[in-house]
Amino acid sequence: MILSIDDEFYHYEAENVCRLFYPYEKINVLNEMPKKLPNDEITVIAEYLPSHQSVKLLRGDNEITKLETYISPKDEVTSEYLITHLIYTALEFYTGYQPKWGMITGIHPVKIYSDLLKSEDETKADIFMLNKIHVSNEKLNMLKSLVGIQKEILNDVTKKDVCIYVSIPFCPSRCSYCSFVSVAVEKQKKLILPYIENLIKEIECTGEIIKKYGLNIKAVYIGGGTPTILDAKEIDRLLRTINNNFNICENIEYTMEAGRPDTIDMEKLLIMKEMRVNRISINPQTMNNEVLALAGRKHTASDIIDKFNIARTVGFKNINMDLIAGLDGDNITSFENSVDSVIQLEPESITIHALALKRSSFITASEDTKKYHSKRYDAEKMIEYASDKLYKSGYIPYYLYRQSRMIGNLENTGWSKSDFECLYNILTMDDSVSILSCGAGGVSKIVYPGRKKVERIYNFKYPTEYISKFNEVLDRKEILGKNYEQFC
Ligand code: SF4
Repeated sequence: MILSIDDEFYHYEAENVCRLFYPYEKINVLNEMPKKLPNDEITVIAEYLPSHQSVKLLRGDNEITKLETYISPKDEVTSEYLITHLIYTALEFYTGYQPKWGMITGIHPVKIYSDLLKSEDETKADIFMLNKIHVSNEKLNMLKSLVGIQKEILNDVTKKDVCIYVSIPFCPSRCSYCSFVSVAVEKQKKLILPYIENLIKEIECTGEIIKKYGLNIKAVYIGGGTPTILDAKEIDRLLRTINNNFNICENIEYTMEAGRPDTIDMEKLLIMKEMRVNRISINPQTMNNEVLALAGRKHTASDIIDKFNIARTVGFKNINMDLIAGLDGDNITSFENSVDSVIQLEPESITIHALALKRSSFITASEDTKKYHSKRYDAEKMIEYASDKLYKSGYIPYYLYRQSRMIGNLENTGWSKSDFECLYNILTMDDSVSILSCGAGGVSKIVYPGRKKVERIYNFKYPTEYISKFNEVLDRKEILGKNYEQFC
């Protein structure tokens, strides 16, 4: 499609709004009207004029619709809203598609709503969400519930609170939809040992920063990748290092992802339990064996059930499970079966993701992703079924975020039983506390008091760079420590 928009300031958001309707198409953004318009593509012409704003939709030379507004914008934000709102309305009219999140293109809808509640009363905030940015009633109700649940947790944070993230970017194989930096271990097993050696040094260095500035650890999260790809000895060594360098008291939430059942066994789980890991995540993504195979995962649904039961036997009382709506080969009935099977296991939390077709994934590289846009209504039904079933089974939504290129412009939602909300997920999504990250792909984030500024310090993305340029990793940690001098 072509988007012709005369003021560059509005390009970014205008393009994002077009992408709600044409998520996987190339959008040519131009500063001026092209001389010849292609017959087989939609052209959006947005003009920001001193007297009014106008949006025209054309196919070839034929005008489909033209919308104008004569409201005088007070500032650039209002101007941006007016022009993007016209584009949204024109494309909604033309395609007949009403995205459930309306015009929201960002990843934090909860933050948009909670920030709005700081300046407006609830009725006005709701009217704005429904009428001005076209969020559906269903999603607004979800936001209301989420804001209520998160409020207490978020009111309780101080400037010295931090979360720790430790990255193990290796997996047994690469899932077809994966966009992370994770490396399939069958190709790069030899990297694990040098990676762990360096990671341990980075954890020690981070522990010193925490001690020096008297920081208070709220949650530790070991993610990836698949951290349980490490063998039992490596897990023992990693967890001992974390426990020796961070003050892990009884009530700290301590999560280790154990995503793939083919990487979990009794020995590893016993070590994790002994080392005070108190939350794990076993992620089926689907309970349909054919869909699992298509996704490139080398396990079956019954492996998931077996490993879940072992984890319970070992004594894990806080287990999360992830499912994905919209996977290749899945359909509404089989997704509903997955939801039912996972609920039957009674994990403490279940996260429902909508498939995100990231550019770096195998699916995006090898398939025509446009077909996924036509599956958006199925994905909506899958998410609706999951929400309904989870509510009825005693789970409540506690955190939510969106990603770019998600099927049906939907969302990822964490559901939990009461008192099993994942603190790490809530705190990191809200930018409420700083995150000190260790390992490849990790991003440390310093949240200044009052959230006046959020500074990010990036680690190298891939294990090879992380290992070969490790001195730089430590230099960046030193910079991170110096930032704390400003307010600790
Ligand atoms: S388990 Fe997760 S990180 Fe690993 S390849 Fe699959 S999606 Fe990527």
